[in-house]
Amino acid sequence: MILILLGPPGAGKGTQAKRLQDSRGLVQLSTGDMLRKAVREGDAIGKRCEEIMNRGDLVPDDLMIDVISARMAQSDCANGCILDGFPRTVPQAEALDRVLAEKGMALGAVIELKVDDAALLARIESRIAESGGTQRADDTPETLKKRLDVYRRQTAPILPYYEAKGILRQVDGMAPIDEVTRQIEAILDTVPA
Ligand code: AMP
Repeated sequence: MILILLGPPGAGKGTQAKRLQDSRGLVQLSTGDMLRKAVREGDAIGKRCEEIMNRGDLVPDDLMIDVISARMAQSDCANGCILDGFPRTVPQAEALDRVLAEKGMALGAVIELKVDDAALLARIESRIAESGGTQRADDTPETLKKRLDVYRRQTAPILPYYEAKGILRQVDGMAPIDEVTRQIEAILDTVPA
């Protein structure tokens, strides 16, 4: 099954993806984690992305599409995966459709975690406080505002794209973590494997 988790920064996509990875045996593909690794390792992709990520912008679609399609071609994705952080623009969503069509695979579900802005800011602030100085370079209140703005302008337009396909589902991302997981699992139980 191919599952997409959508939602603004701090909505809990990564937390839920890790839980589903364990419960459903689907590999979590976090494009943010892949790019942060590239930055740490200082490779060509990392060098291209670091500054863009630090200011809270999106890296170019063509680069992101190459990264994710190479990753999805690996054998651990043969039974599907959970996409966490991809797609983030309509061209990325269209490219994903092409990649899946080539593989003869279909999207199982697109799940939006709905969370309001005040709660997101509070979550990022506690993530910063708990990190003890080792926080992500883009986890600052200023950059979060930028990332939220980018989400609204560039990522939210993919919601109607998936709604038109009849596969968009929504869960209350403000609910306790276990309840969010329960809601997602209930949706996945209705999706053919
Ligand atoms: P995340 O960990 O998903 O919040 O991603 C961190 C940062 O990586 C984002 O703010 C973007 O700069 C970059 N990024 C991650 N995924 C994508 C994507 N699908 N398209 C463009 N940029 C991305």
